Amino acid sequence: MSEGLKKKMSRYLDAGFPILYINSFEEEKVDALISSLKDGREVVEWNGARGLVDFETKAPLSLGGGLADVLELFLSREELEGKILVLRDIHKGLESPEVTARLKNIAGLIGQGADAAVILVSQVVVIPPELEKYITILEMDYLSIPEIHSLVEDFVRENGFPPVKGRLAEEFAVALKGLSEFEIRNVLALAYAREGELSRRDLELIFEQKQQTIKKAGILEMVHSKESLEDIGGLDSLKGWLKRKAKVFHHIEEAEEFGVDKPKGVLVAGLPGCGKSLSAKAIARLFEVPLLRLDMGRLMGKYVGESEANMRKAVSLAEAISPCVLWIDELEKAFAGIGSQGVGAEVTTRLFGYFLTWLQEKESLTFVVATANDVTKLPPELMRKGRFDEIFYIGLPKPEERRRIFEIHIRKRRPGDEGKLDMERLARETEGFSGADIEGVVKEGVESAFAEGKGSLETGDILKAARETSSLKEMMGDSLEGLMKEYEKRKYKNAAG
Ligand code: ATP
Repeated sequence: MSEGLKKKMSRYLDAGFPILYINSFEEEKVDALISSLKDGREVVEWNGARGLVDFETKAPLSLGGGLADVLELFLSREELEGKILVLRDIHKGLESPEVTARLKNIAGLIGQGADAAVILVSQVVVIPPELEKYITILEMDYLSIPEIHSLVEDFVRENGFPPVKGRLAEEFAVALKGLSEFEIRNVLALAYAREGELSRRDLELIFEQKQQTIKKAGILEMVHSKESLEDIGGLDSLKGWLKRKAKVFHHIEEAEEFGVDKPKGVLVAGLPGCGKSLSAKAIARLFEVPLLRLDMGRLMGKYVGESEANMRKAVSLAEAISPCVLWIDELEKAFAGIGSQGVGAEVTTRLFGYFLTWLQEKESLTFVVATANDVTKLPPELMRKGRFDEIFYIGLPKPEERRRIFEIHIRKRRPGDEGKLDMERLARETEGFSGADIEGVVKEGVESAFAEGKGSLETGDILKAARETSSLKEMMGDSLEGLMKEYEKRKYKNAAG
């Protein structure tokens, strides 16, 4: 049982917080938690699928009517006194104005001192605006490393399996971080069923299970990255900076003892197709940790409170999985509207506040890589020193960088051909091309060389493709230069050096 959540909940109940919303799918764990906190109060459970049920046995209680009717029974203080109403999976029910109105009444009675509470339990957080100020969201805590160790030990003992010891036990505990108790037991059962013992090969199984969990949560995506720093042409200043951070990341205890701060993260701003995503992937490879991508578009829910709950969930999952790289893509999508008016803007502002505080105070080894096309619209608080370790911008590649990007992409498709090509000329004649543009013309050139039956790629094939391509600079015109000037004025670091 997670002691942190128990303590928190007990405090909220004592303080008369009227509605607690537990965001969890672990039914048994939540039940155990509620039982341990009921303190003589009677628990009445309504279940979205089965209606009114006995809290202990889950047997349906034959009482006619829907949720709104049941709630009506508790609209007087005498009836409500000494009750805990557990409402499970009722997110659909919350769409009914009758249900929300009655819950509001009940919350009001608790606010006036009735010894009672409403506990909503669901995997999805949906909060109707009318109830927003009465609801407190609680997340099930993830297990800590010592808790995971004891869970594995219990499991092994209960089943009479050979125990796991030493370094392997450590690796398992780290790998199992971020999974629920239920999932850990499942994955252990599967691993033992396969081979009768736990071996290093089972780490892969855990990884798959973790991917599933992350997918189920729906906001984070685990990205498999094959790209390394060698796949990035240019951006030498960014690369050098990252190598230094990687050293700290890999020797965090010694580094902290020495007085070095824990790496927080980096903000990389840049034009489309200039290698931001590529950099995020290469960072995870360099740090040798999983890469979790947070989709800001998906995070913004349609209900009040939902986006914050999603953000909290994403952040706690990432922390549970840490050490990891948390890649926040298209940062401006979420935070560009700050400071404007309206309900939507209010939600964004709160979300932003939460994110800032987390960024500032986080203790875990969750290295944040935030990427954005245009950061001039982002709130200045986010760009202040201390939030991110550094802010880089990526401009269009210079001739030398273009040459290296050509080399990388030609070598990928036609290893050996780059020695036969006039690389200097390619670099010279592709002014204004982004990395993605260069990749595109190499692709085109290789295809036409093949179509024309040539034995190898020739400089002319690529130049022809380049002439037929509108470069990023042509597409963006003056806005591009303006943006670069603005970044320089703000003293962001040029990733190219
Ligand atoms: P967007 O804002 O559109 O997501 P991005 O900056 O994230 O763009 P990437 O996805 O990193 O762009 O780049 C697209 C592709 O272009 C990469 O997969 C890579 O093949 C190529 N590319 C871009 N920059 C470079 C570079 N510096 N070196 C090598 N390849 C590059």
